[in-house]
Amino acid sequence: MVHQGVITAAYIVASILFILSLGGLSHQESARRGNLFGMIGMAIAIVATAFNDNIESYVYILIPMLVGGAVGAWRASRVQMTQMPELVALLHSFVGLAAVLVGFSSYLGSEGLFSGAEKVVHEVEIYLGILIGAVTFTGSVIAFGKLQGFITSRPIMLPGRHWVNLAGLLVCIWYGYEFLQADSISYGMIALMIMTAIALLFGIHMVVAIGGADMPVVISMLNSYSGWAAAATGFMLSNDLLIVTGALVGSSGAILSYIMCRAMNRKFISVIMGGFGGQSVSSAATDASQGTAVGISLDECGAALNNIDSLVIVPGYGMAVAHAQHAVYELTRRLREKGVNVRFAIHPVAGRMPGHMNVLLAEARVPYDIVLEMDEIQEDLPDTDMVMVIGANDIVNPSAIEDPEGPIAGMPVIEAWNAREVVVLKRSMASGYAGVENPLFFKPNTKMLFGDARDSIEGLIAHLM
Ligand code: NDP
Repeated sequence: MVHQGVITAAYIVASILFILSLGGLSHQESARRGNLFGMIGMAIAIVATAFNDNIESYVYILIPMLVGGAVGAWRASRVQMTQMPELVALLHSFVGLAAVLVGFSSYLGSEGLFSGAEKVVHEVEIYLGILIGAVTFTGSVIAFGKLQGFITSRPIMLPGRHWVNLAGLLVCIWYGYEFLQADSISYGMIALMIMTAIALLFGIHMVVAIGGADMPVVISMLNSYSGWAAAATGFMLSNDLLIVTGALVGSSGAILSYIMCRAMNRKFISVIMGGFGGQSVSSAATDASQGTAVGISLDECGAALNNIDSLVIVPGYGMAVAHAQHAVYELTRRLREKGVNVRFAIHPVAGRMPGHMNVLLAEARVPYDIVLEMDEIQEDLPDTDMVMVIGANDIVNPSAIEDPEGPIAGMPVIEAWNAREVVVLKRSMASGYAGVENPLFFKPNTKMLFGDARDSIEGLIAHLM
């Protein structure tokens, strides 16, 4: 038997590695190292937990670990970069489900173990753990569906939905009281199950009501919830490492939600209330005075590229779909060799997960110093010869500024139209994730280069002189 002190020491080392991991992940240069710290920390945590005195049989642990590990390794090795957000949403749902299952088993297994204040504390942990876990579980499944596209990204709102939520909350509080007062496991189980059903429905209701444009906040919010669910599980199991890890994930997810809200100029509470980015067409977009979008051929765009001194590339979700990052790198390299000042403008919600574009550009080895945040580059755009929008749409939509009544009014966007010339690479006139038409395509200095982004960029590289 391994001494408990050794296990505690291993947990402390793992906690430190997780903190170093988070620190590393906050900069592109150190992200790989951060990941490595996280992996080592997790390996130590699993091994140390396996030596826990309470474990009676390894069969029940090893079989699920092998099956789960094999499925996880298989999925992670095959997942496309474009499907990472869906995978992350699905993984959050597992954390939520685990918290629910641990909560029930912890309640059933604790009969007669605790009394007095200890019993109350343990039951509060169980109740809150299951509540947060159930909301995280169904909320993440719906978020997965919205990202995958089999549930509409438009907000689905029930009439009187705030009253429905309030009623659900009151019933949960009431059954929480009943649960703590329950004098038999069977009555306690009834209270728990009613609360679980309401929390599962609340998770669905909360996320279906959120419009496409708010999804980044929801993803980071569910990330945070999954952390709190894990922390609650840690309390139920008296596992300090799980508490620390859960708190780290919970608070970093909360900070990320705050950053996302700020990036979109939204208040967290109004995101939870739902509905943003719901209408399909903004009033500015339906205005007939917009004119028609003008196309540009590869030849013309290639010729224009040969005559510029500065270029700002705005990548979006379409760059990920087209797997265009390596071609983008090659275009950048060739233009820089010709002396063109090429830089990237990254919107905080570009793509489908926080940091999506940074990950893709880092993978293609685009130098970090030319990859700039939206705020760092915005004021340079009027002095830029060309802005090339590659598979981005919502993040360059001027209706956020020009149409105060529009569905994405107030969201900060990259003001591409301020450059001398704008070229938009996309396949059609289709709208972006938020389902909002984009007046940028009709601006007099905008040209549309239709086609798959990767094909278009490879074509442009061939035209460089
Ligand atoms: P958008 O979804 O607004 O637009 C992407 C555009 O890419 C589409 O209009 C599409 O047009 C084009 N596209 C798709 N495939 C290709 C291809 N193969 N080649 C060329 N173009 C292609 O993306 P943005 O990055 O501009 O904005 C992100 C949106 O996603 C925001 O609304 C954000 O709120 C939301 N979101 C962000 C999350 C995050 O964490 N970052 C999470 C969840 C949602 P076409 O079909 O015509 O080619």
